[in-house]
Amino acid sequence: MTNRPRPLIAGNWKMNGLRESLGDVALVRAAVAAGGAGQAEVVLCPPATLLMAARLICEGSAVALGGQHCHEGVNGPFTGDISAEMLKDAGACFVILGHSERRSGYNEGNASVRAKAAAAIRAGLVAIVCVGETLAERQAGTAWAIVSAQLAGSIPPEASCDNLVIAYEPIWAIGSGLTPTLKDIEAMHGAIRDQMNAQITGQAGGLRILYGGSVKPANASDLLHAENVDGALVGGASLRAAEFMSIAGVYR
Ligand code: PEP
Repeated sequence: MTNRPRPLIAGNWKMNGLRESLGDVALVRAAVAAGGAGQAEVVLCPPATLLMAARLICEGSAVALGGQHCHEGVNGPFTGDISAEMLKDAGACFVILGHSERRSGYNEGNASVRAKAAAAIRAGLVAIVCVGETLAERQAGTAWAIVSAQLAGSIPPEASCDNLVIAYEPIWAIGSGLTPTLKDIEAMHGAIRDQMNAQITGQAGGLRILYGGSVKPANASDLLHAENVDGALVGGASLRAAEFMSIAGVYR
């Protein structure tokens, strides 16, 4: 495939994982070293408590690490929060921002996601910005209007193909076992690329647009071969190395 961005498979562990889970990080490292992800880039986003330990395991390997959110400031009186600079210092190269669980559970609106994405870029991280509609919005025919507004409001002007990844995650597909039709995914990803062409620096042909929402070994090949799908953001199936690598193995 010429002129296509390098695919990306990112694992979002959410609030899961103790030190014993580091064994799965080591297994992913070994599988990637053995060619298990082909040309795809592999990123694990464990909870912040495991980042430093995961860094020691992944150092010198092709497996990158990411955080799951960040504060927009560099440092200061924000008890419990983590800055993009701290994530970078701990070994992260990526950070997931605007995940629907943060948008709904922590009232993170588009302006907040945009400020956090700007902070990530400032710190030298790649921002994985999540967008997606609810089931009610999909059924009402407003899915694209919602996603378009999220893109317009959440992406900072300094974003480029090098420091931004978009993850299209229909909220109703997350953790539900449901997925949109391939036709609906392709329509959404194509529209996202068109809009990002106007919004980011440079051509959005090189922008990675991930699909997320119940990606499993059984459906990964279909989903990842869909037009304008440049990889996946994987939740539940990223917690076990074998399952995660079976998804990444589509790119072997
Ligand atoms: C997610 O939460 O980002 C996600 C895609 O979850 P799952 O794969 O479990 O649906």
